[in-house]
Amino acid sequence: MHIASISLPESPQPTLNAVDKLLAFFVLVGMDALDKIHQNLLQGLSFADQTDFKGHCEKCDKPVLNDTGPGLSYTQDGIQHAYHRKCFTCAECRKPIDDTSFYLHLEKPHCKVCYEERILGRCAACDESLSGTATMKAGSKKFHPKCFVCEKCKAELQGRYFEKDDAFWCRSCYEVNYLPDCDACGKKIQPDETTSKITMVQCKDKKYHQGCFACKDCRKPFDELKALHHKDELYCQDCYFAVIKAMEEAAA
Ligand SMILES: [Zn+2]
Ligand SMILES: [Zn+2]
Ligand SMILES: [Zn+2]
Ligand SMILES: [Zn+2]
Ligand SMILES: [Zn+2]
Ligand SMILES: [Zn+2]
Repeated sequence: MHIASISLPESPQPTLNAVDKLLAFFVLVGMDALDKIHQNLLQGLSFADQTDFKGHCEKCDKPVLNDTGPGLSYTQDGIQHAYHRKCFTCAECRKPIDDTSFYLHLEKPHCKVCYEERILGRCAACDESLSGTATMKAGSKKFHPKCFVCEKCKAELQGRYFEKDDAFWCRSCYEVNYLPDCDACGKKIQPDETTSKITMVQCKDKKYHQGCFACKDCRKPFDELKALHHKDELYCQDCYFAVIKAMEEAAA
């Protein structure tokens, strides 16, 4: 028999990822605005001074103006980005984004379909799209927060979780399923709160709390784990000889 020490698996914190910024309804530089730029030009002002000038196209670097076709712009973190309509393409599928909503992911515009299917992906539990909600990320898997539940009791796993056997567990279900039972008192052998290590005495296939690994008769814990085995019970040396002596006397 020996003292065994096992470690609990990592119990990481799931990360709650906010949804990427959805920039709905970008500003279309329509003909009205372009007409205004034209008027201002006639008054002899330069492009840069025009309030309607949307800047240079992020893709082709040409100014987004009437003569190069109407464009669009959006503002992110106070910085204005301008594109010609034909230049405003999805970073994934490269198709022009002609919806009035798009997603910015890593500062690049994405169409709705690509963003939802390729960037967000689907919930590992219900296989539904993760769009429009916060996403719970655990390891390489993503979930709706309501779908990230304990394998056994189905409670939402908001704080720490345990991952074992390809499933996620709350602390109490994990303990019921995976912590060893003490063969003497029948209770779970709990890990140390600070080190998360489980220390126990292992004797063949049986496991004990250190304090429970004690003589059957006098209940004293064994010195240096020295125990004597008799009829499936463990005794200290004194009690062992007392039992044997009693047996011999009974037989005589
Ligand atoms: Zn362009
Ligand atoms: Zn796309
Ligand atoms: Zn789900
Ligand atoms: Zn549970
Ligand atoms: Zn015990
Ligand atoms: Zn004893």
